Amino acid sequence: MPTASAANRAEARAIFKQLIEINTTDTPLGSVTAGSAAMQKRFLDAGFPAEDVHLLGPDARKMNLVVRLRAAGHTTQKPVLFLCHMDVVQALRSDWHTDPFEFVEKDGYYYGRGTQDMKDSDAALVATLLRLHREGYRPRRDILLALTADEESGKFNGADWLVRQHRELVDAAWVINPDSGGVELDHGRAVVADVEATEKVYSDFQLTATNPGGHSSRPRPDNAIYELTAALDRLAAYTFPFELNEVTRTYFKNLAAQETGQTAADLRAILATPPDLSAAARLSAEPSFNSNFRTTCVATMLKAGHAPNALAQTAQANVNCRIFPGHSPEEIRQQLISIFGDAKLAVKYVSDSYVVADTAPERKAMTPPAPIAEVFEPLTRLTQAIWPGVPVTPVMENGASDSIYFAQAGIPCYGYSAIALERDDDRAHGQDERLPVDSYWKSLDFFYSFLKAVGGE
Ligand SMILES: [Zn+2]
Repeated sequence: MPTASAANRAEARAIFKQLIEINTTDTPLGSVTAGSAAMQKRFLDAGFPAEDVHLLGPDARKMNLVVRLRAAGHTTQKPVLFLCHMDVVQALRSDWHTDPFEFVEKDGYYYGRGTQDMKDSDAALVATLLRLHREGYRPRRDILLALTADEESGKFNGADWLVRQHRELVDAAWVINPDSGGVELDHGRAVVADVEATEKVYSDFQLTATNPGGHSSRPRPDNAIYELTAALDRLAAYTFPFELNEVTRTYFKNLAAQETGQTAADLRAILATPPDLSAAARLSAEPSFNSNFRTTCVATMLKAGHAPNALAQTAQANVNCRIFPGHSPEEIRQQLISIFGDAKLAVKYVSDSYVVADTAPERKAMTPPAPIAEVFEPLTRLTQAIWPGVPVTPVMENGASDSIYFAQAGIPCYGYSAIALERDDDRAHGQDERLPVDSYWKSLDFFYSFLKAVGGE
């Protein structure tokens, strides 16, 4: 497997430094456009044709960049897309030991906001496309890179906007999103390489009980707070049905091979037909297993009453659901209504931009197909060339990323960064975010060979 030269590394480091030092937070000081425009300049300076480098977006400070490394001649193969968000979470100088917007190399690490999430991969992919172009490499299919806005926060999510408004620019056979997935290290030893092959859908619901209220010295039989809490008690007692899909089935099969004792036996039992639900119940004591088995809905916020000596006129809860792929938010809203079992309660949907609506979207994340060999074969081979013997497994992410917008548009997405991190050194969104220098070089080598493998040598 070829490794980057000193000159390749120097350029990749300079791009990484430049991106870290451009503030792309969703704050008055931040501008995603500044980062996108800086990368646009690099591509144009390197000789990419202007029609293959698009700077576009719905807001002047939230412009996305879409770059196309064009196939040689006519191609019938659909492109592949690398989807990378450019925005970062706010970081305060007073909370850090270094300036979060200064790229600092110290003790074998790069420090700065975005070194883990995810300017490392943004920079590695920009550097890789520039290098391939400079070497005269022409793929057999187009290779696309999208650098996007507002994954972390803000109203102008670039992935969502691009796939809805400019499908022609980002349409692809499949997507790699390096925002998740990677190699887990335990004291330097590569334990497992996770590839996010599907994810749950995030949805908030607003549950409201209302009442005429009145003086608290004269309580009435009906009461907004008690009606709300009784409904929440029913939710607490409810467990959504156990489910498996092609991704979680493969993941638990791989995990069963590594576990021992009761856990291994239970994992094998849930994979049987029909699944052993008592084994699933035992495993569900572990929250990460439970979340991987089913849709979950949990109350996360409460608000009720207006004075200590008055009957509450309104009692309200936010219920946060993580929906198993294959179900729509509206289907879950209907299910919540029947779980609450009180027709007087209003159950409304709260959108990502906090708009409250009577009904929820019918759109569902697709049930993931079995992992595509065209992706997994080179991904596994190249990962194991760097970390010999490491198992590579597809996983279903319980959280949410921009992959969901492409998954909902029917485009399979895989989350993989080839970034190796110690299990206890996840600093994304946190203080003193850092990346081992060695991990950056390895991801650079991975992407170079992986792009060539999917583009055709
Ligand atoms: Zn991220």
